[in-house]
Amino acid sequence: MDVRTFIAGWPVYRQLTGADPLGRGAAAKSKGSAELVARTETADRVARSVCPYCAVGCGQRVFVKDERVVQIEGDPDSPISRGRLCPKGSASRSLVTGPLRQKKVLYRRPYGTDWEELDLATAMDMIADRVVAARAATWEDRDPAGRPLNRTLGISGLGGATLDNEENYLIKKLFTAIGAIQIENQARI
Ligand code: SF4
Repeated sequence: MDVRTFIAGWPVYRQLTGADPLGRGAAAKSKGSAELVARTETADRVARSVCPYCAVGCGQRVFVKDERVVQIEGDPDSPISRGRLCPKGSASRSLVTGPLRQKKVLYRRPYGTDWEELDLATAMDMIADRVVAARAATWEDRDPAGRPLNRTLGISGLGGATLDNEENYLIKKLFTAIGAIQIENQARI
């Protein structure tokens, strides 16, 4: 590269000699940034969704390439959020693709000092056994005046905000059916 070409590439030279005297546009842009292509431009398709993290329910556009989520952005058509996402919603791509995401059941025994992996069927059986035992031990048929209660205070439910509407509906149905009355969701807190 000759000296003239080299100097012509300096941002300050381009700022002083070009059409961007304040250096806030083309003069400040490097060759590397000029060649960048947004993931949204190369996506194969865009799916519409709703941010799962809180009860605001901001609209999202999910950009997919090669059947993998490559970007999630706010949906300008959403009357709720009009294209905006808070930092949690903006980072929700990692909910799907994050390498730290746990995909196996981890269990730490009482007095245990480390986590151990369990297969899902074993974990589900253990949970079911505990629910049945807690319900039997704490069931309240009637209050001291003899009025019917049909409840247990020994079981409560706290849903996570990444559960979807359908999952929360089923969780509420299940917990109510077994007599629990303390049923909440993190998204309402
Ligand atoms: S977590 Fe943020 S982006 Fe998601 S629904 Fe709530 S306010 Fe909207």
